[in-house]
Amino acid sequence: MKVVRMLDKKIGILGGGQLGKMLCMAGSGMNLDIYVMDKQKDFPAGSVCAQFVEGDITEYSDVLNFGRTVDILTIEFEKINVAALFDLEKEGRKVYPSPEIISMIQDKGIQKQFYKENQIPTSNFILFKSKHEILQSLKKGQLNFPFVQKARRDGYDGQGVLVCHDDKYVDLLFDTPSVVEELVSIEKEIAVIVCRNKSGHVSIYEPVEMVFNHEANLLDYQISPAHIEKSTCLEATEMAYNIANTLELVGILAIEMFLDKTGKLILNESAPRPHNSGHHTIESCYTSQYENHLRAILNLPLGKPDILAHSVLINLLGSPGYSGETVISGEDEILRINGSNLHLYGKQNTKPFRKMGHVTLIHEKERIPYESISRIKKSFSTSPLNI
Ligand code: ADP
Repeated sequence: MKVVRMLDKKIGILGGGQLGKMLCMAGSGMNLDIYVMDKQKDFPAGSVCAQFVEGDITEYSDVLNFGRTVDILTIEFEKINVAALFDLEKEGRKVYPSPEIISMIQDKGIQKQFYKENQIPTSNFILFKSKHEILQSLKKGQLNFPFVQKARRDGYDGQGVLVCHDDKYVDLLFDTPSVVEELVSIEKEIAVIVCRNKSGHVSIYEPVEMVFNHEANLLDYQISPAHIEKSTCLEATEMAYNIANTLELVGILAIEMFLDKTGKLILNESAPRPHNSGHHTIESCYTSQYENHLRAILNLPLGKPDILAHSVLINLLGSPGYSGETVISGEDEILRINGSNLHLYGKQNTKPFRKMGHVTLIHEKERIPYESISRIKKSFSTSPLNI
């Protein structure tokens, strides 16, 4: 049977996690033909894409072969084989975001240099090749505590980041090429999502505010829109607009920023793909980040990013103390809460603090629903021991 499609184009997504799943779901609304590649078909996107190809997104030949079967290639995770993307682009395939952007983002050192060269405010930094070099620099008094060490490559969700307050942290330093940056005195952490299509049309979502549990090094909850001054909001939006244009971005870019205690905005890092900090856009904005990413890579008109409702986002994490087959409980309690939108990613296996789902809680103006947030966190479990 022939399927009638809006566009006769095959879209390929590298990565089949929850972001890939939500991209497929947004594409399904427009009846787009979406193929996904990742290691195993039972990954989150496996149940919702037109075709799932098993392959390794870090392997040159797997990415090349998959890319050759689609018209437009995009990503849901930036740690992929970028050499294959450069070659696919040379063969005339469309790759969004461009391999240049992905390759710049993959290396936190090059990323920081890009911000510096383009006068985008970011914390001062030095690049080091090894732990030995950092120790030498400390000895010579060229580097002083406190500082933040970040592995240039392969860090994720706070792993590969070490906040060094004093010399007690020396033993913990990573022995890997790293960026060492000034410790920012953070008042708030915010994120802005910007989307740009090939024609240069830009849509920018309102900044969101991330509240962290610093003990667990995890997001506690996220507030949309961020509780910040109008002038800060404007500044953040302008910064996002400039970065998207400088990069000639096609697709989504999520930009994480710090608002320091003096009210200065400092860019921390960016991710050129749909992002955790934009999950809420599914229910709380005119057009979700996922749909806008697809519109952008297809060079279609972008949708309005404005918010329809205030929301908080709570990640549903794997229960501490249990690794193994996922056994979900607590969904009844979560669904009982007015305004809750439950997303379960369908991961077969759980481990402590793994992202297993999220809840977007729509609520009334300004008032943060603390009680509901704690009810959600308390009731959700992925462990059979909780039943
Ligand atoms: P990842 O890419 O692993 O998420 P980040 O660069 O976002 O790493 O850093 C993780 C967290 O570490 C940030 O959310 C912030 O709380 C803290 N952090 C990172 N850089 C700095 C800095 N320069 N000053 C103070 N805190 C920082």
